[in-house]
Amino acid sequence: SAEPGRPYRVVLLGASGVGKTAFASIFAGAADSMDSDDCELCGDEVTEKEIEVDGEPASITLIDTWDSETDSECMYERYMQTGDAYLLLYSITDRASYLRASELRITLRRFRPAQNTPIILVGNKCDLVRRREVSVSEGRACAAVFDCKFIETSAAMQHNVWEAFRGIVRQLRLRRDSK
Ligand code: GDP
Repeated sequence: SAEPGRPYRVVLLGASGVGKTAFASIFAGAADSMDSDDCELCGDEVTEKEIEVDGEPASITLIDTWDSETDSECMYERYMQTGDAYLLLYSITDRASYLRASELRITLRRFRPAQNTPIILVGNKCDLVRRREVSVSEGRACAAVFDCKFIETSAAMQHNVWEAFRGIVRQLRLRRDSK
């Protein structure tokens, strides 16, 4: 039941300030715009793009949610229901964002109870070593509890960001191929 021609819908979730916009900018190929701290998004940003993963093209529609704390409930539910896969971000410099990621994971499970939806827990800002509040092993342990993959990234250094997107595509393909 592969669906050729239909892009995978990948949703960025996470607390405010963790780097969702920076991720979306890198994905969109506008990484140089991430220093501008000014733009106040008041809606979701959607970018569609084809990337190559393991020698095979994959179409992704990336949905950058705005701050879920201030979301209207119905938009929030829509994100939880319409993604094919989720990148669940926190900042390694912000323990509250790590706890928020756990809450979001629980909410996701509630909305997608029976489904085996690919999720990667992403510990972003790993370049800020001296401001680290969440250890690598805590991130890994959280991912294990929530049965998802884990990666640390730095959007600022463009470290592991594409690896996260490729990881999501690989998981989506595994599920597609096992159907
Ligand atoms: P959002 O609210 O989740 O969309 O977060 P943003 O993408 O707007 O990022 C919040 C702030 O963190 C911005 O000033 C970014 O430049 C900065 N930022 C994002 N990712 C990184 C990173 O990996 N390392 C560092 N040092 N700063 C980052």
